[in-house]
Amino acid sequence: MTTTAPLALSRSPTLISPSLPADKRGMVKDPDYWFEDGNIIITATNFHPRSRPCGFRVHQGALFSHSTVLQDLLGRPLQVTDTAYNCAVVHFSESGHNLKCFLRAIYGGIGPNDDLPFADAAALVRLGHKYDVARVYTLGMGSLFPPKKPWSRLLGSGDKAIEAANLFTAIKCPPALLVALYCCTKLDVASLIGGTIRTDGFLETLDAHNMLLCLRAREMFARRRTTFFVRTITLPPQESCKTPSSCREHLRDILPTYADDVRGGFSELFLDWEKDDTICAPCRKFLARREQKFRASLRSSLPELMGVDVKSWDPSRPVVFA
Ligand SMILES: [Zn+2]
Repeated sequence: MTTTAPLALSRSPTLISPSLPADKRGMVKDPDYWFEDGNIIITATNFHPRSRPCGFRVHQGALFSHSTVLQDLLGRPLQVTDTAYNCAVVHFSESGHNLKCFLRAIYGGIGPNDDLPFADAAALVRLGHKYDVARVYTLGMGSLFPPKKPWSRLLGSGDKAIEAANLFTAIKCPPALLVALYCCTKLDVASLIGGTIRTDGFLETLDAHNMLLCLRAREMFARRRTTFFVRTITLPPQESCKTPSSCREHLRDILPTYADDVRGGFSELFLDWEKDDTICAPCRKFLARREQKFRASLRSSLPELMGVDVKSWDPSRPVVFA
């Protein structure tokens, strides 16, 4: 296969630049995946209101060799509605960003140890699953769940939590959906209800079922955390406490601040106090240990608490995906 650019090594940003000129059809040629010897043009769906639709001129054979789904889909005569540059033009419902990530993986431009942005890895999982390309899917999952710290990326997904929840709902991966929905409970209410915008401009919102799970769990976590917090700070001072009156006073002072948090998630208050010397060392140690136990009990019963059915849930085990 001949190409006009060193694509296998391409690491250019995956977003299509809005400043690229459009052709007379109003289509922007992707600068990396527009092969002069390509025989099919794939146009992407545009979710950014002010950008132009982009096109990828690629090799049908390369797509077919990886995906029988694409072979079936593009092989149907009705699918091809247009021609340009002597190629069939096929419109896909995917965004330009996601298609570009997918094509980059197909053309060998992504390796198993590449540190991919969340949106790129999610695109590989989404399209790898949809078009049944195991290699692309595995590259995405491997990046989202690094073997040494399998849950670290998902737990740190922040405003990508809804995107993650929708992705793992679509590919039916209950353990990952569980953790993604747990992360959704920590979002601010505007994001939780109104949704969040994906890198490619698509608005991700939770479906009614997942929204219900999150709202219920959010309330439940807030209640449990507040109960844990109030019970903990009203316990009698530790026998080993060196400064009982000032330790107790400090704990009571923080009550209004911490009992008002109504978001989801576990408590992370006392574990952060390790270097706080406004409270004595034995008290700090006791509070951190108590909080660790509280968090561990929530973690192990997360499927029941969130209402997601996960077989043999073990939060310490690496994610299994096949
Ligand atoms: Zn103390």
